[in-house]
This record gives sequence, structure tokens and C-alpha cells, in this order.
Amino acid sequence: MNLSEKSKQHVDSCRFCWMCHHICPIGNATGHERSTARARALGISLVNRNAIDLSEIMDNIYECCTCGACVHTCVTGWDPVMFTKETRLQAALEGKLPSYINTLVDNCLDKGNAYGKTEICEKLAEAAKAHAKKTDTLLLLGTDARYMVCEQAVKAIRVLEKANVEFSVLADEPASGAQLDFLIGAADEAKQQMAAAADVMNAYDTVVIYDPNDAKVIKRIYKEYGVDVSAKTVTFTSYVAELIKNGDLKTTNTEKTVVYQDPYQLSRDLEETEEPREIIKAFATLNEMLLNRDETVWAGNLLMAEYMPAVMNEVAARRIFNAKSIGATALVTACVSEYASLKKAEQTDVEILSIEDLILG
Ligand code: SF4
Ligand code: SF4
Repeated sequence: MNLSEKSKQHVDSCRFCWMCHHICPIGNATGHERSTARARALGISLVNRNAIDLSEIMDNIYECCTCGACVHTCVTGWDPVMFTKETRLQAALEGKLPSYINTLVDNCLDKGNAYGKTEICEKLAEAAKAHAKKTDTLLLLGTDARYMVCEQAVKAIRVLEKANVEFSVLADEPASGAQLDFLIGAADEAKQQMAAAADVMNAYDTVVIYDPNDAKVIKRIYKEYGVDVSAKTVTFTSYVAELIKNGDLKTTNTEKTVVYQDPYQLSRDLEETEEPREIIKAFATLNEMLLNRDETVWAGNLLMAEYMPAVMNEVAARRIFNAKSIGATALVTACVSEYASLKKAEQTDVEILSIEDLILG
């Protein structure tokens, strides 16, 4: 397999190491050592040494959610996310993607979303229509919100309306390329999708990015792939925190006591931990659960639920258990995909709220 020398070095450093296996949300959910970083490295090293074929480890390669908890924990600085994404790219180039991943990739290329959806819900279409006029500020809703959790996309629009912000919403929003980046890494197709999205964003002064996964990709990965965005890009949470600070968004005490689920894309990749907390504290009392801020534990997403739904349910249930363990009765998330994942878990002990739920009451 044609991996970079850097990736090969990281693979050979990880393959016999156990130091981060306790932190992997997938490994903890499946209970299998094979789901963790070091086992993935061992599999890739066997392919590199021609002991097994790449196709034999591909299911395992797609078990990683790329949350970076291992990278964050690694005291020696090795990076399983890097070699996992490079292996996905190599599998795509060699035509060795599993069929269920090929379907998702084809949907991204044909429909602009991995789910193969072609329509947004009526309520979102209606809410977006009210912001069809070109302004200086674009609210980028993202694929998951638009196609899978459209009621949350509507709430994001309502939050900015509540603060009397003048903003635009696109009826035919371009894909950010985040899903393709997850599925096939730095492939030309992902970069082309990113460049097309950047062209659209560059027609605005400011782009408010609702989905933390899009924010991570636009603010970090675009630079790595040489895709330029001249518009100012801000996360939805940092933008809303500023609206509160300026007095543009009025706050009320909901009398709720909540804990906050840090999306790793905000807390680890973009180092944004306090802005969401400032928002929450303006509406509720905030407690902290085990493993917060950059030590957060991922709570699942919609894309991986397409091919491993039972594991996603377990990942969400385990994070809800962390909240329950400190007596929390409400958990607030700033990530639309984690929100959907947590909502799917069948339980009634902990109320699952989005930041928008808290603001809109
Ligand atoms: S990332 Fe670090 S801690 Fe985790 S398996 Fe690799 S070397 Fe060990
Ligand atoms: S990136 Fe996350 S899911 Fe992947 S091996 Fe590391 S901790 Fe596990």
C-alpha cells in the first residue's frame, strides 16, 4: 500500500501500544480491542508488509470516527487519524472500498450528501425562503442539519432572527466536502467539492457555520488541502456568544441545570470551549461532566449510523451514562449530528437539548 513515510512511521509506533485504548469511544462501545487505534495500526502494518490484503481490514478502517481522542491522549505525539484517513484514500484509489462506503461516496458525488437525499423538509424550505435575499452574512446549515435534522436547521435560523441579524440562507447550499473528507480523505473529488463550496462562501463577508464538523473542515482542513476561503468564517456558537455579549440576543433564565457535551471538532480541533459555555450560562446553570472540553468523549453521528447503527446507539448511551453519573437531568449539545445521535438513544432520564432549544425556550 502506498502510504506516506510519515504515516508508516506512525503506524509502526502505534501497533504495539496500549496507552490510549481506554479512551476510544468506538472501542468502548464495541468492547473489541480491534476497534482501537493500535489494532488499526497493526492491521495496516500487516498490509504494508504484504501479509494480508488491504480489503481484509477495510471494515476496521471505517470503524474509526476520526474524533482524535487517541491523538490528544498520545504523549509521544503519534496520529492514528492521519494514517486512518490516508488508508481510506489509498483504498479509494485502489478500488478497495467496502460497498457500503462506495454507496455513501457515490451519494456525496451525485447528490451532495451521503444520504442520497434530494429534498429538504417543507418547514426548512419555508424558513430559508425568508432569507433568500443576498446579504453580507451567510448562515451555512450543513448537510446533516438540512437533510437529516431539519427542525434543528429551522431553530438555528430562528436564533439569528431572534437577534435581528440580517442573513442569507441558500436554497441549494453546496456540500462543504466534510463527508467526502471523512470517507476518502484528501482525494481530488473531496478537494473539488471544497473548492466549489469556497467559491460560494467567498461571495459573503461572513459565513456563520452551524455544524461543528463543517467548521472544522472549513477552518482547518481547507488550509491543509490548499483551498482558500476569503470570507470570515465563524462557528455558530462563537457568533451567538458575541450576539449575547453585545446585547443583541436577549437572555432568559430557563431555571434548568444542564451539562454540556463538547463536540470534539470545536474543543479539540478549533480550541473553542468557552463560547458555548457562555451561551449556556446565559440561559441555565451549567455543571461539568466527566471528560469535558478537549478531553470530551464523542457521542455518535449520523454518517456512521448509516453503516454501524447499533454501535452509534451504544456510543450515545455511554455518553448519556456519563451525564447521569453526576446526577445531570439535561445535556446540551452544540453539534447537530451528536444531538441526533443522543436523541436516538432510548432513555428518559436525561433530557437532550440543543443550544438552540435552550435559547428559544
Ligand atoms: S496514538 Fe499514541 S497512545 Fe495511542 S496507540 Fe498510538 S502510540 Fe499508543
Ligand atoms: S480517532 Fe477516535 S475513534 Fe478513531 S481510534 Fe482514535 S479515539 Fe478511536
